[in-house]
Amino acid sequence: MSMEPEVPETVYVMCPVCGEHEVHDVLKGRPGKSSLEATLRCHGCNRVRAETVRMPKVIAVPVVASDGPDSYRSSVGVEEDERISVGDEFFDDSGNYLRVTAIESNTGARPKKAVTREIRTIWAQRFDVISVKVTVNQGTVSHSRRIRAEPGDEFFIGQKLELEDMDCYVNAIKTRQHLKDRGSAEAREIVRVYGRFAAKTYPVLDFEDDA
Ligand SMILES: [Zn+2]
Repeated sequence: MSMEPEVPETVYVMCPVCGEHEVHDVLKGRPGKSSLEATLRCHGCNRVRAETVRMPKVIAVPVVASDGPDSYRSSVGVEEDERISVGDEFFDDSGNYLRVTAIESNTGARPKKAVTREIRTIWAQRFDVISVKVTVNQGTVSHSRRIRAEPGDEFFIGQKLELEDMDCYVNAIKTRQHLKDRGSAEAREIVRVYGRFAAKTYPVLDFEDDA
């Protein structure tokens, strides 16, 4: 099962003028198979340009979730070439936060990870502490990280996030409904946080110079 391609209001892509990933308004867009021929306006510099943006197809993958002693069936929309692993966490289409406990492939195998289009069913467990996906952009390089949060924790544009090996400043937040470059969102509604790289700062140790 696949979902109708729709033209997003905004996309988060590299701006050649700003030299950074920025939120862009999609002024005009014609969806193709896995791309969007779009006229974009950058929120950073306001320039308008034409670009073909890659738009992977989103597939609805069936989910069997256990919630305490009960279990229920739902689904989750995932990009077709995304890799899913046991231990991954996600919101299903009924809004519950789940962790993957097993993957059943189209061939009936139980791989530890698989690409979305090869998956028949995701087995998952309901779960309460969220790990929010963070993409940190450093020039043309992107780093994928995760940060732990309670469902009600708020993330806001401009916030400094301290990750394990780097820091970043949040410049876009993708929620289930919107792509924001102002304001805030609660962890429970966030699909991904985008940030601009900042070197990790460590507290300065003040050594006495009297050895
Ligand atoms: Zn720009």
